[in-house]
Amino acid sequence: MKIHKAKKSLGQNFLKSEPALKAIINAGEIKSDDVILEIGPGKGALTKKLLEHAGTVIAIEKDRELFALLQEKFAEEIKNKKLILIQEDILEIKTQSLFERTLGRSDGDGQRKFSTENFRGESKKTLRLYKIIANIPYNITGAILKKFLTEENQPEKMVLMVQHEVAKRIVARDGSESILSISVKAYGDPKIVMKVPARYFSPAPKVDSAIIAINNISRKNFNSTQEEEKFWEIVKTGFAHKRKKLSGNLKSLIKLTDEKWKNIRAEELKLSDWLELSKN
Ligand code: SAH
Repeated sequence: MKIHKAKKSLGQNFLKSEPALKAIINAGEIKSDDVILEIGPGKGALTKKLLEHAGTVIAIEKDRELFALLQEKFAEEIKNKKLILIQEDILEIKTQSLFERTLGRSDGDGQRKFSTENFRGESKKTLRLYKIIANIPYNITGAILKKFLTEENQPEKMVLMVQHEVAKRIVARDGSESILSISVKAYGDPKIVMKVPARYFSPAPKVDSAIIAINNISRKNFNSTQEEEKFWEIVKTGFAHKRKKLSGNLKSLIKLTDEKWKNIRAEELKLSDWLELSKN
């Protein structure tokens, strides 16, 4: 097998810690019929563990060299369709068509799905139940969160390795909220599972990492697409100028008359406040 030289541009830091791999698997609460989407399988350390627990693993790797290495390493699992390995950029993937082309469209294939009468007016659309479990490339953390949390077919749960600082910002509360923490909490319940020191990776990244789990992912906070769009507009505008007060930032969108919004800054608002503002 060829020796692979880690590419910095693709955020390649391979996890080599058994306890960290175990913690990721435990946080995933994987059942034997689960469909798992893995982003950036790398050399397959986590993929191997996922295959031991899940029903089907769909792994998306951008790097051609690593893709070839994985094809060889997991030839057996690929042959019996337990592993679906795809060489693509995760941010270019259309989730719905990914599932259709890999798992099929039919209802009678034994895969777990759920039907919803969703608020987009397309009644009884069949969506896939799946989880994202991955040690991701850190340079696209924000893009991955945004893509999959706001996706029509959201994952039920995400377990991700991220930079420790980012993990702390996601779970921050009480006056330290950010657009990142509010947008994650709008769709799910984030928590830090474990801090992971840089030396647990090869090559070691510059900063420490942490495993986060985002549980109970849904759109329950929004009653309509309009409401969801308004929420994003208000949150983005509310956080636009960090030094300004909330009322100043939001001046062009809404007039805040209530006393309670007078002297407050964006980072002091809780999710429930933003939801209240976007429902007006
Ligand atoms: N999960 C592996 C590797 C983590 S490193 C492990 O735990 O050891 C991040 C991985 O994501 C690398 O394999 C890198 O090639 C891949 N990657 C980077 N950008 C990507 C993208 N846009 N889409 C899919 N994979 C990507």
